[in-house]
Amino acid sequence: MISGVVVKHFLYCPAIVRITELGFEERVTDSMMEGEEVDKETVGNFLFGVLKAKELIRKPVYKYKDLVGSPDFVLGFSYYYSPLDVKYTNQVHMDHKAQVLFYAFIMEKLGFNVKQAILYYIPVKKLVKINYTNYEREYVERILRNIVKAKKGFLKVRQPVRKCANCGYFQFCKPKRVGNFYEREF
Ligand code: SF4
Repeated sequence: MISGVVVKHFLYCPAIVRITELGFEERVTDSMMEGEEVDKETVGNFLFGVLKAKELIRKPVYKYKDLVGSPDFVLGFSYYYSPLDVKYTNQVHMDHKAQVLFYAFIMEKLGFNVKQAILYYIPVKKLVKINYTNYEREYVERILRNIVKAKKGFLKVRQPVRKCANCGYFQFCKPKRVGNFYEREF
């Protein structure tokens, strides 16, 4: 199965895809998750009004072949739908964009008319709309092909020291320091 979390991990470092495939997982506490869900519900209701949506679907689970995606919300408009993910960081990251575009991709496969994907950053109250066109569709397809390869291994990664130091999978990965980088082969 490839989920939105797998897509996010891949964008951070392909090695995480291989590490989780081997059965290692980062720990997330229940209290963290409960607090986040309350904030997300407030944001979902707020954006439903501000964006003048006609429908608000909470935490749907969409499956298509071996893909599974669960955006925080889906907003329904007059003639299209948009997946919406709520984030707790100040900055827009590429992995967030890839994740929400992945949800758009699955929804389209299931017959939804998807025109854009949406991100909302709680600390800075920032709304980001990302068009979903053929370019983004091909981008997601490319990521999915590379995730399939990463899951199988035969992978060599090289990441800056700071990135590995902030990686929740460092203890499982145990990469080798080479100058200003860490390297790891699977
Ligand atoms: S510790 Fe570094 S090399 Fe290993 S998974 Fe994390 S980012 Fe990738």
